Amino acid sequence: MGVHHGQILCILRDGGPQSRASLARSSKLSATTLTHVTAQLLRAGVVAECDVTETTGIGRPGQAIRLVPDAFHVAGIHLGAGLVQIAITDLKAGAKSIASFDFSVRETEPDDVVSRAAETLSRLRSELGEPRLLGVGVAVPGPVNADQRSILVSINTGWSNLPLADMFEEKTGLPAVLEHNVSSMALAEVRYGIGRQVPGVLYVYLRTGLGAGLVVDGMPFRPGGHGAVELGHIQISTDGPLCSCGNHGCLESYVNEAVLMRAVGLKGQAPDNLLKRLEATEAWAPTLDRLTDSLAIAINLLAPDLIILGGHLGEAPDSLFDHLLRNLPPRVMPHMRDVLRIERSGFGPLSGAIGGVAVALDHFFYSGVRQ
Ligand SMILES: [Zn+2]
Repeated sequence: MGVHHGQILCILRDGGPQSRASLARSSKLSATTLTHVTAQLLRAGVVAECDVTETTGIGRPGQAIRLVPDAFHVAGIHLGAGLVQIAITDLKAGAKSIASFDFSVRETEPDDVVSRAAETLSRLRSELGEPRLLGVGVAVPGPVNADQRSILVSINTGWSNLPLADMFEEKTGLPAVLEHNVSSMALAEVRYGIGRQVPGVLYVYLRTGLGAGLVVDGMPFRPGGHGAVELGHIQISTDGPLCSCGNHGCLESYVNEAVLMRAVGLKGQAPDNLLKRLEATEAWAPTLDRLTDSLAIAINLLAPDLIILGGHLGEAPDSLFDHLLRNLPPRVMPHMRDVLRIERSGFGPLSGAIGGVAVALDHFFYSGVRQ
């Protein structure tokens, strides 16, 4: 397989079944190359022939090529701070099996987390009848190095320079690739969710901390090959609380799970409706204002076409969205005011695992170079 194979697979993923003529127009490949590439993909069983659904009305329907989503499967794993989610999906990120488990960040070694995730994946695979997996995509809680093999630093877990891809490959026997967790979630929405065909997607995720991920023209924005969009560490007050990053007054020092749990008088595991509970407290108005301030900065800097809210923000009451849509437009440049869209995550609680899946599919299938 090669990049031309990946190109055809991406066109079929995004555009559905197509005639060879349509594939030739979209790919700009020569007739000879396209014939060669589609023949190889047909032999590999990843595409199949079918009748085109739309005809010119003259004669019989023509033959089309379609993707075969069940030809292979991949695994996605979200390593969150204290929570691991695992999913096995088909080639269009359709979930076949999912599982999750909690762990204590303070009391669990990373090696034990990886071992438990690998055991859980092995169980899911067995329950599905041992499908062939192309690889594992791991969504991790921090920026990763340029070759996507190590997590560089994760403030909320205390992990740094950890070769997680090697660790997963050793425990699962499958090729592994890493991506920043919120970048993975943004990528999943762009490839398979509500961000399809959208040039700029900013994903904002609130769980233990407040993270963000940006996908521009279909590619995760990773400045320097490793950077991340650290919306949570925009400083909104120079004399604010000490942040987990060491600075004072970052957005995350005001808007994080522990602070919001205290504001609603709860301890232990955060409920899904944390922000609904917060809405009834006096902490609600300042939280809305801080989110609005920070998002206004992000919009002016990054000009996203779509902002997707996930985690606790994705489960927030409608009043959060109403507030943002009312108060953000006057704060951003005029050309952004009419195009601003803010939506809830389409994958909900599965966002992180499907994020890992999207990374694995890009890396091990739709690139066409690693099959
Ligand atoms: Zn900070």
